[in-house]
Amino acid sequence: MGANGPSWGRRHIAWRSKHDQALQAQQHADKLACEAWNERMLQLGGPIRPSPSLRAAISGGFPFLRVLCNGCQQSSWVNLANVRRPAETWIWQLEASLVCQPCRERTRFPPRAAIEILCRYDRDQGPGPYGER
Ligand SMILES: [Zn+2]
Repeated sequence: MGANGPSWGRRHIAWRSKHDQALQAQQHADKLACEAWNERMLQLGGPIRPSPSLRAAISGGFPFLRVLCNGCQQSSWVNLANVRRPAETWIWQLEASLVCQPCRERTRFPPRAAIEILCRYDRDQGPGPYGER
């Protein structure tokens, strides 16, 4: 250690290691938050709030959302990476803007879709009870 405290290299390593630990802890927390939310949605059927944010879902390894159309009762998967919303948007806030494409074309007032669970990949967990779109 010199007169000016630890060298730049040592300080850099100290910062880097804390930074990496923080990222890992955050990712772990995100993963657990997503899993906990999934369990609540699957086992208890809700409530949907509070939910993880877009950022937490993607960083926690759940970049897909299975949704169920209230009109045709078909399941569909939304890739959260393609959602054009700020990263801090809560998952439940997306529900208001979910519309089933085939149903939208059929009627002037398309039925809403309901958020079911977060998924690790497209078609993860299979479709809901009524099949997929
Ligand atoms: Zn539909």
